[in-house]
Amino acid sequence: MRRPLVAGNWKMNTNAASGRELAAAVGEASRANGSVDVLVAPPAPYLTAVKDAAGDGVMVAAQNVYFEDDGAFTGEVSVAMLKDLGCDAVLVGHSERRHVLGETDVVLNKKTKKALDAGLHVILCVGELLDERKAEKTNAVLDQQMSDALDGVDSLDDVTIAYEPVWAIGTGETATPDQAEDAHKHLRQWIAGKYGQDAADKVRILYGGSVKPNNAAELIGQENVDGALVGGASLKPDLFVPIIEAAAS
Ligand code: PEP
Repeated sequence: MRRPLVAGNWKMNTNAASGRELAAAVGEASRANGSVDVLVAPPAPYLTAVKDAAGDGVMVAAQNVYFEDDGAFTGEVSVAMLKDLGCDAVLVGHSERRHVLGETDVVLNKKTKKALDAGLHVILCVGELLDERKAEKTNAVLDQQMSDALDGVDSLDDVTIAYEPVWAIGTGETATPDQAEDAHKHLRQWIAGKYGQDAADKVRILYGGSVKPNNAAELIGQENVDGALVGGASLKPDLFVPIIEAAAS
């Protein structure tokens, strides 16, 4: 039985004060729902403040990291810097990094390996565009994204997969529970093929894409859905806390 994980991706939102307030509410909800793992990914400048305000029982992730150790890479943040701040994990391959910021599969693979080598947990996001789904290419896209990002990665012990159909992110449109389950099942089969059945049974696969309190229980209730990666609804305790509660029940 996989323990559910509910993760909040704050994107480029909050400020120091509102981030601390939100983190404190998430910390309280996490400690009240001990059967669920909870993680938040605040903007990088607030990682320390959010970690302190959230307290025990909340993992903190960066939304991005660079794959070089140090040097002339203006604006970038290294794995060592994130470790220094007590960061537990990092998101890699979020659709906004892929499709808005133009990150390629080669870059995502370098980031994945760098983060894992440094002992950071990686939440690897994959997902198809609407045109790809309409053309029935969803599984092929997922296979390609998985094999590219995980090229040279020997173990998934420190990896969580997030299936996030791009057409469902921030749009209010959610994959149906059946669509989510089909994609998650396919991803788990892919993992079994490359890493073996044990690894496939262990790895958590989160669903992301307009998860809200009214759809969380049904999505997370699917056999192969092990929690949620939540964007918009992670910014308000009265929306995020019920999602944590839905995962706990
Ligand atoms: C996300 O940012 O990963 C996400 C799923 O956003 P939203 O929940 O707003 O669709």
